[in-house]
Amino acid sequence: MKNVNLQPTIVYTPVYDIHFWGIEKMHPFDSRKYSRAYRMLRHTFGQPLETRTTAPKAQISQTELLTVHSESYLQRLHSSAYLSRIVEIPVLAKVPYPVLNYRLLRPMRWGVAGTCLAASIALERGIAVNLSGGYHHASREEGEGFTIYSDIALAIVALRLANRLNENQKAMIVDLDAHQGNGHERIFYEDRSVYIFDMYNQHIYPRDAYARQRINYDVPLMPGCGGDEYLSLLRKALPAAIKAASEVGVAIYVAGTDVFERDFLGMLSLDEEAVCERDRYVIDTFVKAEIPLVMVLGGGYSPDSYRLIAAAVDYIMRRYAGLR
Ligand SMILES: [Zn+2]
Repeated sequence: MKNVNLQPTIVYTPVYDIHFWGIEKMHPFDSRKYSRAYRMLRHTFGQPLETRTTAPKAQISQTELLTVHSESYLQRLHSSAYLSRIVEIPVLAKVPYPVLNYRLLRPMRWGVAGTCLAASIALERGIAVNLSGGYHHASREEGEGFTIYSDIALAIVALRLANRLNENQKAMIVDLDAHQGNGHERIFYEDRSVYIFDMYNQHIYPRDAYARQRINYDVPLMPGCGGDEYLSLLRKALPAAIKAASEVGVAIYVAGTDVFERDFLGMLSLDEEAVCERDRYVIDTFVKAEIPLVMVLGGGYSPDSYRLIAAAVDYIMRRYAGLR
């Protein structure tokens, strides 16, 4: 990315939102945080934001999904009972599959297409944010933890298949969601061309000891870890990891906002300023290192999640796109 003029880009479409006549409220996940974050940014910057925004052309196709997921897994997704377990809303087992496909899987497939598009754009323009994605618990054969398709793995594999990364270049995953990113760790278990940095609360779901062995730079945290401790660990670990990864062609940042102190599930204690500082630090670090950066959202289970996401994108747009 040397000498590339930064042109930060947002990838977004209103189709990302999940609407279920209110049933989605049975899971603490804010399934409309995507449009809430975008509306907040649109309100701040007005029309110039739209010139920095692009939408995926289509949802991810079955052929593309098969580059990471097995055919038998994609078949199993045709069961409402199975889907209801993945998204942890038992009542959905009674909803016919075509409805779940339209209301749940389709928005997620658009979200996956968004991460793939953002990865492609980041290589040309330096920074791209997909206002969705970060489905980091889905593996080749299994969906869990509200994640069905591994957008992160699909985006990396798509770059490789298109020869957009050279042989020596690593794809780096920087997973700062409060939960361990066991899905992509399992998918890339044997693939050393991906460098995985994971910083997470080790005492909450998924506690996947097998996947954990695949993490290149492992930063397990104790529940209740506060902003000062978190940021000092991050400031030490991230530069060391980038150095250890050696040549990084693209970085995918899972910016889960469930590290926030008022999050129901993350069980960490970062206040709003600490979450924002975390995002600013990661973004600035990759810009300074001249490594293309893709930001995806990951988890976030507080009503404040969308505001924290918008704050990170607001920072990118002011600092690197010159928007006011
Ligand atoms: Zn999470």
